[in-house]
Amino acid sequence: MKFPYVPGVKDYDFGYGHPFRGDRFPKFVRFIRRLGAPIEIIDPVGEPPTFQDLLRVHDKGYLDKLIEMSRKGFGLISLDTPAFKGMWEASLSLVYSALSAIRVALREGSSLGFGGAHHAGVREGGGFCLINDVAVAARWAQSQGVDRVLIFDHDAHHGNGTMEIFYEDDSVLYVSLHQDPATIYPGVGFLHQVGRGKGEGYTVNVPLPPKAGPESYKIAIEELVVPITESFDADLVIAHGGSDPHYSDPLTNLGQTIEGLWELGGWASSLKSKSKVNLLISGYNEEIRNWGWLALSYGFMGEVLPKDPREVDGSPEIEDDRVIRRTRALIDEGKKVFSKYWNVRG
Ligand SMILES: [Zn+2]
Repeated sequence: MKFPYVPGVKDYDFGYGHPFRGDRFPKFVRFIRRLGAPIEIIDPVGEPPTFQDLLRVHDKGYLDKLIEMSRKGFGLISLDTPAFKGMWEASLSLVYSALSAIRVALREGSSLGFGGAHHAGVREGGGFCLINDVAVAARWAQSQGVDRVLIFDHDAHHGNGTMEIFYEDDSVLYVSLHQDPATIYPGVGFLHQVGRGKGEGYTVNVPLPPKAGPESYKIAIEELVVPITESFDADLVIAHGGSDPHYSDPLTNLGQTIEGLWELGGWASSLKSKSKVNLLISGYNEEIRNWGWLALSYGFMGEVLPKDPREVDGSPEIEDDRVIRRTRALIDEGKKVFSKYWNVRG
């Protein structure tokens, strides 16, 4: 499968000591090359994003502020997101990366790529995110005649920016599986936040309990995500996330395993649509990130991992029966909430 690579994404880097460093991207490219993975790294596709592309999503005042802060190289976007010199250009590289992957997927059916800055909202950044590349790419696709877009966000954190951008929109279905926001940043993404106006029912938040792992994900996806996305009938699926749902991630408390991430990649590719893309970005355990990203990618491609996943991470039993019972109760509640909008059995 093709993987367009924009080398400038390596400059998306909050500096020494920050959990988000830009070297994660070239490191993964080297990792898959060393493995001889059946992933074809290609040049960026089409033209870089224009200011106009960004304006489909973001407020002009906010973008102007980013340009200014990027030039000066100091200030705070939010407490966890310091400004750095060149962050504007680096953010554009990330948007170009997501756009390139979507151009490949629209042409060939599927693609891999880097991207997923889902905390960036209309007029504010945070959570290491400045420009919402996923939202910009989704709007770009719609400008090219793509009708219905499904965003399947499987990052451990909720995509508060993406939710805000599409909250009143019925042409973009936002589905997110994330750690219960009562226990983690960004503190929103609850089941009852379902969208507003004509967008009501088009935001599907699945706030999983801490320690939720492969079994919880399976229940949530099979019983809630699949029926909803089947009835939505997307023209394009943008799946995105990374290795931060893994049990070893230092910033989160979920219970995913390498095998579970592989299954998750498989679910992403099985969602009903003509074109699909899977974008990678998160993961704060350096030891496991490459394998987590590989697992998501191989699952998405329908390839078997080159090494037994239990050999990679040991796959301990993080998710016990109590966690699974909590997930089941959540999904039962979710079916009640969403049976009002979609063909799910309540
Ligand atoms: Zn995350």
